[in-house]
Amino acid sequence: MTRRMLGGAVMVRRSGLGSSGQTRLPSASGESVMKLPESLWAASAAPAIDTPPLAGETGADVAIVGGGFTGLSAALHLAEAGKRVIVLEAGEPGWGASGRNGGQVNPGWRMLPSEVAAKYGGNRTPAVLAMLDQASDLVFDLIGRHGIDCDHERPGLVSAGLGRHAKAFLEAWSREWGEQGVKVERLERAALKDLIGTDYYHIGMHDPRGGHVQPLSFARGLARAAIARGAIVHGGTRVHSVHAHGAGWRLAATGGEVEAEHLLLCTNGYSDRLWPGLERSVVPVTSFIAASEPLDEARRRAILPGRHAVAETRRTLHYFRLDRDDRFVMGGRGNFTNGAEPGSVGHLRKMATAIFPALDGVAWTHRWGGRVAVTPDHTPRLFRLARNVHAGLGFNGRGVAMSTMFGTQLTRLVLGEETDMPVESLGLVPRHGLRQFGLTWYLVSGVMRDRLDLQETPPTWT
Ligand SMILES: Cc1cc2nc3c(=O)[nH]c(=O)nc-3n(C[C@H](O)[C@H](O)[C@H](O)COP(=O)(O)OP(=O)(O)OC[C@H]3O[C@@H](n4cnc5c(N)ncnc54)[C@H](O)[C@@H]3O)c2cc1C
Repeated sequence: MTRRMLGGAVMVRRSGLGSSGQTRLPSASGESVMKLPESLWAASAAPAIDTPPLAGETGADVAIVGGGFTGLSAALHLAEAGKRVIVLEAGEPGWGASGRNGGQVNPGWRMLPSEVAAKYGGNRTPAVLAMLDQASDLVFDLIGRHGIDCDHERPGLVSAGLGRHAKAFLEAWSREWGEQGVKVERLERAALKDLIGTDYYHIGMHDPRGGHVQPLSFARGLARAAIARGAIVHGGTRVHSVHAHGAGWRLAATGGEVEAEHLLLCTNGYSDRLWPGLERSVVPVTSFIAASEPLDEARRRAILPGRHAVAETRRTLHYFRLDRDDRFVMGGRGNFTNGAEPGSVGHLRKMATAIFPALDGVAWTHRWGGRVAVTPDHTPRLFRLARNVHAGLGFNGRGVAMSTMFGTQLTRLVLGEETDMPVESLGLVPRHGLRQFGLTWYLVSGVMRDRLDLQETPPTWT
């Protein structure tokens, strides 16, 4: 079992869609419309596309609820396979976590190949490992194939950490993925400093599969590509209810109704009560990001000179990168005292300056938050909820590549093909109501244990 919680997070109030600081505006139908929350990505994204709300009754082969990476990737791949697809999104494409995340394209999820084998067993393991390995490639291939304008860069992902905890994790990661043929490079403190511009960390690793994207632009690009291949995407369209109808399903949504043979639920950390129990299959937690003004030339030369995406190995991790305008962008857990408040990023700015003292004095211009969907074992889930109804969710803060990949898994389910991931029946997180308290305790104890790592003698590779 992996010991870490990803994405850094803290309790969120369960107040349904729209509880992370975004504005609601009245719509023509009188129902509130969810405006895209303010963020660096909202301010710098490729132009929004026209996704008018549903109006009236219509039909499709596949109805997809949720217009994030999962739903949009499924829509694109299904449209390419010749299916008539309708995406119904309560906000706009990328309104949820997909338009607010750190944009770090992480290779797979944080599970070692040996842990994958222990969890999924001998028959399934090769397919799951191949899927994990190919997830980052899928993102960059889609960008290339569909000409998606999203400031993408692929210098690799650097993992960096402190003490024996980091060394043990990175050693196992580089050895086990190395055995799978991935060219992961271990980095001593001095080499790490040359690569990312800080000697804060003791030890690190470079994984060439990673990179970064402007996430909202990527979401918009996926939507544009799906529409170009015939998919229909309705923004401002929240689905209120679903019921079996003839051989398929009928959805009642803002502005109209949709009949479809297949239904895909791609609502991740924003799942509501649309499908009984789905929102209790994950624990939604809020993760926060702070971004600086564009760095001046001297700082730019000193900080992340190779423009890598960096993710810590800490239990309560931070992750950071530069954006296309050389702003420093750092994400991590919320503040323990006011976790649901998007303004609580002072601890992130403090940490950024501890890691890169040259950041002292920069202006921090943007801050925002969004919901990560956590599962008890930190792995995502592919559910069969009923005949022709499937869901893919639970990306644990590492979903840029994996949710895009899950769009292809859901596509295969609709096409009647074998998936790499096992398909499960709906499983609820045990003691769901208590989980958020458990997560808070996990974070508090994680912070304390991380502080002890800081005091350890710097380890070296042997
Ligand atoms: C702050 C933050 C930072 C992160 N950083 C990273 C990172 O750097 N790298 C990484 O790999 N991952 C990161 N993640 C995780 C990643 O963003 C997610 O795993 C991924 O975007 C999930 O995509 P999705 O399509 O499954 O869900 P989402 O993008 O959350 O989309 C779900 C959509 O469903 C819609 N919806 C819900 N209910 C309904 C309904 N009834 N009717 C209509 N629409 C509905 C919502 O409006 C929402 O837009 C981060 C997440 C957050 C919040």
